[in-house]
Amino acid sequence: MFDKILIANRGEIALRVLRAAKELGIATVAVYSTADKEAMHVKLADESVCIGPPPARESYLNVPALLAACEITGADAVHPGYGFLAENARFADILAEHGIAFIGPKAEHIRLMGDKIEAKRTAARLGIPCVPGSAGAIADEAEAVKVAAEIGYPVLVKAAAGGGGRGMRVANSADELADALANAKMEAKAAFGDDAVYLEKYLAKPRHIEFQVLGDGKGRAIHLGERDCSLQRRHQKVWEEGPSPALNAAQREEIGGVCARAMAELGYVGVGTIEFLFENGGFYFIEMNTRIQVEHPVTEMITGIDLVNEQIKIAAGSPLSIAQEDVRIQGAAIECRLNAEHPGTFMPSPGRISYFHPPGGLGVRVDSAAYQGYVIPPYYDSLIGKLIVHGRNRTEALMRLRRALDEFVVEGVETTLPLYRTLVRNLDVQNGQYDIHWLEGFLESDEAKAARA
Ligand code: ADP
Repeated sequence: MFDKILIANRGEIALRVLRAAKELGIATVAVYSTADKEAMHVKLADESVCIGPPPARESYLNVPALLAACEITGADAVHPGYGFLAENARFADILAEHGIAFIGPKAEHIRLMGDKIEAKRTAARLGIPCVPGSAGAIADEAEAVKVAAEIGYPVLVKAAAGGGGRGMRVANSADELADALANAKMEAKAAFGDDAVYLEKYLAKPRHIEFQVLGDGKGRAIHLGERDCSLQRRHQKVWEEGPSPALNAAQREEIGGVCARAMAELGYVGVGTIEFLFENGGFYFIEMNTRIQVEHPVTEMITGIDLVNEQIKIAAGSPLSIAQEDVRIQGAAIECRLNAEHPGTFMPSPGRISYFHPPGGLGVRVDSAAYQGYVIPPYYDSLIGKLIVHGRNRTEALMRLRRALDEFVVEGVETTLPLYRTLVRNLDVQNGQYDIHWLEGFLESDEAKAARA
């Protein structure tokens, strides 16, 4: 087992990793930018090292500074959390060259899945059903027109290096294709430094359903059920729940089994998420994330399995300790992402939290690094925490979420709490009747506007 883990992240996920390490009896090192010297992860770690000024590229993305911090503290492993360097294969390689373990998958698998075209090819080869689309990158407009005619409009132009919903454009007809292509390429170039794009059939009313997988690289892999992340704004998840209100046990077992077998064949190491669009009973792979995800607690609540603990043990070379038969999905869990944002405009609202009262009680979990008096810096994303509830069934989880949201008090900054309070009371949400476009429509409704005024 590792002696000391350096956590190359900040905020709630740094705290989350720290907790898992402490429970395993492993010493922890926090790193921080000068903007984060009062952050909770710094206070709770055994040691801490300042790695640079506020901008992420000079601190949390600063590989030489992170290596130096490992050297100074004698850390033998690095947990990257999510975001920042979590899906940076080069970082994983560099750590390996220095004899430091990367708590995550093999660099080759990060690379493979980071290129969404290669990822789709691999998924298809492993027997995972994919969204119909171009066989590879699109060379020019003429090729796009030809491929789009074959798959049928509407089509979606997507960036091969995509992430965070960027570099994506819909074209409803051949007339719209040239613009969609140019805009997607431009956005992809700016965001990822790579303008390769591909085409996919644009599904009209799908749900976003993703499977949590866990592999040990020794030929064993399991799935831990799904999360339904259909409630999205600008292709970004807002509310995640498991199990999906739209799946039955047979569907779960079938597609989950396909995912687990594919990961075993790939020799995948650690946690991963295989994302699908689900429409008319069919599953269509869109991408795989090779890291712990923001919404992982949903799975932890319904399976009782600590995913970060498993991640650390597997990275240290342990074989998978859980068999597929041992995974039992119990009850229902829902996660709300709490952002320091204006609930009407979604503009970031950094500043000092003057009062902070998180809810508690049975089945309520708050993963947050916020505290009363904490000043949210303007340099990073606006996620200040997550509220996760668990109930014996979805109805109980919804009632519990409702009371927990009503109990949650954050003063001094704007938060998205009011949005969740209206969502949890909405009939479509209560009935589980929503697709990936539902939330955008809801946000335009008078009901939503009045609540967020
Ligand atoms: P990113 O890596 O940027 O998050 P994804 O491929 O995971 O991109 O897609 C993000 C979201 O975009 C999905 O959850 C879904 O809402 C939408 N999306 C992606 N592909 C399609 C498609 N082929 N048809 C309809 N919606 C899609």
